[in-house]
Amino acid sequence: MIIKKDMAYKMTDRDEITKSRMYARQQLIEGWNQEVLDNGCVMIIGVGALGCEIAKDFALMGVGKLILVDLDLIETSNLSRQMLFRPGDEGRPKAEVAAERLKEMNPYLEIDHYFEKLQKLPTAVYEEADIVIAALDNFNARLDLNKICIRLKKPMIEGGTVGFEGHVQVIIPEGSGLQYKDRNREIEKIVESKLWELSEEVYPDYFEARERIYELEEQIEQIKRNHIDPVKEAIRREVEEEFDETYAPNTMDQTACYRCLVPIPPPDNKLVAACTLKGLPRNRDQCVIKAEVDFEKEYGHKPDLNKDEEVFKLKELAQQELEELRERVFDENVPPEKKESLTAEEIQEWKDNIQKTFGPDYQFEEMENILGNKIAAIQTVSSIISSIESQEALKLLFRVNGRDIGPPMEPPYINYNGVYGQFDQIEVSKRDDCLACGDVEGEENVQIVVPFDADVAYIFKAMKISGHDLNRNSWLITNPRNKEIYWDPNANNPIFKDPEVKLRGELKLESNEIISLIPIGKAKEDSNINKYNVIITYM
Ligand SMILES: [Zn+2]
Repeated sequence: MIIKKDMAYKMTDRDEITKSRMYARQQLIEGWNQEVLDNGCVMIIGVGALGCEIAKDFALMGVGKLILVDLDLIETSNLSRQMLFRPGDEGRPKAEVAAERLKEMNPYLEIDHYFEKLQKLPTAVYEEADIVIAALDNFNARLDLNKICIRLKKPMIEGGTVGFEGHVQVIIPEGSGLQYKDRNREIEKIVESKLWELSEEVYPDYFEARERIYELEEQIEQIKRNHIDPVKEAIRREVEEEFDETYAPNTMDQTACYRCLVPIPPPDNKLVAACTLKGLPRNRDQCVIKAEVDFEKEYGHKPDLNKDEEVFKLKELAQQELEELRERVFDENVPPEKKESLTAEEIQEWKDNIQKTFGPDYQFEEMENILGNKIAAIQTVSSIISSIESQEALKLLFRVNGRDIGPPMEPPYINYNGVYGQFDQIEVSKRDDCLACGDVEGEENVQIVVPFDADVAYIFKAMKISGHDLNRNSWLITNPRNKEIYWDPNANNPIFKDPEVKLRGELKLESNEIISLIPIGKAKEDSNINKYNVIITYM
C-alpha cells in the first residue's frame, strides 16, 4: 500500500488574510460557517471524472482535509474528462497527481492520498472522514464501500453516469444521529400505510366511502369519454390540418427569449445607493456605501481594495459611520427625559442591544461584498449549472450542423434548488408584447427608484443613472393611465415645465405607477426609442 500523508502547511499572516478573502462570496450564503469546512474532512473514493470534479469543488470551497483513494494509473483516454490530469501524466497514480493539482488550486488544503483498494484501507482512515463520496465505476466496489459506511455509520454520497444519463444517491446509515426528516411528512407516511392495512369488518364505513369514490371516478371518466373527448378530437383534427402552415412557423423552431421572462428589468443598484446617500445611513451596508463616498471626497478617487492602506482607511471611515449610527439609534430610543429615569445598567443594556443589532467590526470581505454589490456564489452550484449549459450547448452544436444527438431540453427552462436538491422544469411562453422578440418596436421598460421627495428633474437623473441619458428639453412625460402631462418643455403654461414639482406631493404619483417618456423635436429623430415605459418606486 502506498500512503502519502500530507505535511501541515506553515501559514504566514499574509496567508491568513488571503485564505479568509478567498471565501468572501460563499460567506454570503444564508447560514454559512466557513469553520465547518475548515475543520471538515471529505473522503473521495475514485479519482476519475466525477472524483476529479468533486475534489476540485471541495478544494475551491476550502475544505480542511481531503482523503483521495484510487488504485488506477492515468491513461490517455482519461484526459478528456478527468480535469485534474494533463498530457504527460499518463502512467502516474491518479490520487497522487490529483493531490498535486489540488494543492496548486488551494495550498491551504491538507490532502492524504492512497494508491490502494478501498477494501484494504485501515478502518481509521474511514473514521477520520466526516463524509464519504463514492465516485466509482463498478458495482462491486460500490457494494463494498456501502457496507463499510453502514458499519461505520458514515454518511455516503453515491453517484454515477452512463452516456447522457446520471444519478446521485444520498445514503444515511441507521444510527448516524442526523435528524433531518420532516416530522409531519413521516407521520403522514405511517398513517397512509396504516390505512392500507385496515380491515373491512372494523371500518365498514371507510370501505363503503372508498367504493363510492371509485364509482364516481368511473362516472367522471365516462362523461369525459362521451362529451369532452369528441370535441377535443374534432378540434385536434382542425389544428392538425392547419398546423404546418399556421402554427409551425411560430412554434417549431423558437423559444421564448430572455426578455420575455424579464419584461421589466430590476432597478439599477446605483439608484438605490443614490437614494440612501441623500440622508443618513440606516443600516450596516449603507454605512460602508457612505464611507466610500467620504473616502472619495477626501482623496479624490474611490478606494482601491487591493491596497491595504486604502482598505484600512475605508474601514476606519465605515466604522465611524457605524458608531454614529449606533449613537443616533440610541438617542432615538433613549431620549434625554427617558434617560434620567433609567439606571446605569439599563442604559448599558440598551447600548449592548444596539451594538448587537448593527453587528461586529467590518471585515474586508464584507466591505468588498457590499461595495461591489456582490451576490452569494458557491462552486458546487456553479458546477451544476455550468455543466447543464454545456450539455445543452453540445446538443445544439450537433443540431446546427444538421445532426441529432438529442433535442434541446423542453420546456427550455430549468431551475435548480440546491437547498432541497430539486430540479424544476418551467414552462415559458413567448410574449407577443416582448420588447426584444415580439411585435412592439422602439419601446423600452425601465424601473427607477427615487427618493420619497423626488421632483420631475430627478426622473431624468434616475434615467441617466440607469444608463438612459436623456436631454430633458426634448422629452415629454405623461401618465398613460389618465393622460395627464407632467413635463412638457415646449408648453406655454409654466406649470408643465417646472422641474422642481414634486412627484408624490404635487403630481400625486403613487409608487409602482407607470409613466411614459416620449421624445419630441430633435430627439424624435435621434432616438431609436419612441417610448420609455417607466415604473417609479419610492424609497
Ligand atoms: Zn422575447
